[in-house]
Amino acid sequence: MALLPVEEAIARLLALAKPIARIVEKPLAEAQGLVLAEDVTACVTFPAFDNSAMDGYALRHEDIAAGAVELTVIGESAAGRGFSGRVGPFQTVRIFTGAPLPEGADTVLMQEDAEALDAQRIRTRFTPAKGRHIRPRGQDFKEGETLLFVGERLDAGRLTLAAGMNRPRLPVFAPPRVAILSTGDELVAPGETPGPDQIVASNAFGVGALARENGAEVLDLGLVPDRADAIAEAVARARQAGADVLVTLGGASVGDHDLVQSSLLSLGMELDFWKIAMRPGKPLMVGRLEGIPVLGLPGNPVSSLVCALLFLEPLVALLARRSSPARAGEALLAEPLPANDTRQDYVRARLTRDDQGRVLAHPFARQDSSMMRVFAASDALIVRPVGAPALMAGDPCPILVLRPV
Ligand code: AMP
Ligand code: MG
Repeated sequence: MALLPVEEAIARLLALAKPIARIVEKPLAEAQGLVLAEDVTACVTFPAFDNSAMDGYALRHEDIAAGAVELTVIGESAAGRGFSGRVGPFQTVRIFTGAPLPEGADTVLMQEDAEALDAQRIRTRFTPAKGRHIRPRGQDFKEGETLLFVGERLDAGRLTLAAGMNRPRLPVFAPPRVAILSTGDELVAPGETPGPDQIVASNAFGVGALARENGAEVLDLGLVPDRADAIAEAVARARQAGADVLVTLGGASVGDHDLVQSSLLSLGMELDFWKIAMRPGKPLMVGRLEGIPVLGLPGNPVSSLVCALLFLEPLVALLARRSSPARAGEALLAEPLPANDTRQDYVRARLTRDDQGRVLAHPFARQDSSMMRVFAASDALIVRPVGAPALMAGDPCPILVLRPV
């Protein structure tokens, strides 16, 4: 099979997926970032009663219309404890923000505009317009009104509104479940002591983090030895758990111990393609197993992260009905780069800003795809298209932003 260009590979992967249609109810505290599956109406009217927008005095506008006047304070209305009586001529009620407006009153005088004569008397110093500093009942919304709509993503403002609508649970599209299977006889979990030939398995954490950032729930299938039966058992667990995507890590090349592709094929996977014209990450595999997309990522940590960024991120976003983060940008090269070959290159780089605020990209000298430290220090990937000419310091270059500067 020929090496597939990156953009075509991404398009073919996305063609295998469609947005999750399952609907679940989530409590507000768990609904952040999810997408509404139905329109939502308000269960209450807000505000439910006329109330004060200020600390001050509730009074009858007609009593103060002619100018400064003395009023008798007959009680108090506080938030959560209103005044049960009625404000009559030349009477007033001390009122606080959010407290119900007492019957008879139609205006609130700010406390700064009143002079306290004694505990029971004030003199007005200013005449506000009638109705001033009152939030009328229903000024925000009324019971039964549709305020949130299908397809809207639940962010801070919408979650606050939903709570205010007295909706403790919301119908949302289920987050996609991404199962991650790490393969390799050499792998031990972080925290264990690796034997002489072993390494600590790392990349499921970064790949899982990227999936979650884009709205997925992650099912970690754990570390699976390089044996077809062990891979089959882990895939069975993924299916049982209702995975919407299967991601494999490692075992993707053509070595004697790279069994992922052959094992999945024997389980019935339809292979769409593998081998992409990119660096890092050539041995990326895409297929479909029982209707769900399968993404086989290379084992080297940097390769798996770059591939996850390019492929898993838009896949999860599509399933989750979200837009993937806008990473594409441009920077000025801080150092020259050589001409590129036949694979699209993703060069790890640090970003800074010059004194004019322009973004500069500093490529790291070491680009080995096993170097986690270099990737962790990278703010961006410089994209080097197939056949791109050599660039000089100061030349503009396309980047994918990992961390904005
Ligand atoms: P493979 O694709 O299995 O040939 O793996 C390529 C390289 O990545 C090898 O050096 C593996 O030891 C390493 N590797 C594979 N899986 C992981 C993992 N989960 N975490 C860290 N390194 C890995
Ligand atoms: Mg391996």
